Amino acid sequence: MEVILLALGDYLRLPAIAKQAYDRLKDTPSFSRFTYKIIAKLERIKNSEARARVVYKEINLAVDKLFRNDVVKQSVTCHKGCSACCHSLIGITSEEADLLATKIRRGEVSVDLSLMAVQASTVDNAHAWYRLSYDQRACPFLDNNTKSCKVYEDRPAVCRSNFAVSDPQHCVPDSDTGEMRILRTDEASMILIGAFMSTEESGELPKMVWKRISKKEQDKGLKDNIFL
Ligand code: SF4
Repeated sequence: MEVILLALGDYLRLPAIAKQAYDRLKDTPSFSRFTYKIIAKLERIKNSEARARVVYKEINLAVDKLFRNDVVKQSVTCHKGCSACCHSLIGITSEEADLLATKIRRGEVSVDLSLMAVQASTVDNAHAWYRLSYDQRACPFLDNNTKSCKVYEDRPAVCRSNFAVSDPQHCVPDSDTGEMRILRTDEASMILIGAFMSTEESGELPKMVWKRISKKEQDKGLKDNIFL
């Protein structure tokens, strides 16, 4: 029987939702077969951007399938204008980081480079990260006025597969209003695991994107940095 066994380091780098799915499903043959199929598919694609887009397409299909269920539709509490989950650190693959950095380099999206500089320098230190204010922990791709994602079509895989089913107030980091509950998106999580297993590198979004942008953009971020 084929079973997926992740090394501890690889397991720790998985997004939380994928870790939960892995813990629950790792001994399930259909899970292993599906995940290995995704890995094989990704390994046939040499272009980094194309690999990221295949993952997005597969996750979108899995999520759309899930949302055909009325109970799911009625239970999800995520709504436009709520950006609580965009204030937590999210893990991305090197393909996703390449895609986002390319958009910045081409001028297709403007981001708060000073915020990215601060975040990139703190993500490795949990104490430093949690000393940042709520606003300082906002994803650099979050539009602060509209509270929407500036790279929605190209948002990372984990941003496509997390849905709250509890009161949105519970999603606010550091809030102790109650337990946050998320929708089980197992198929999407299997795709996430496949993407993380087949990528060369994974890590937190600010750090991964920061090291891929140009020196000129990094200098701008450091110069404008009002938090240092
Ligand atoms: S990439 Fe977009 S959806 Fe994902 S955390 Fe950032 S702002 Fe939110």
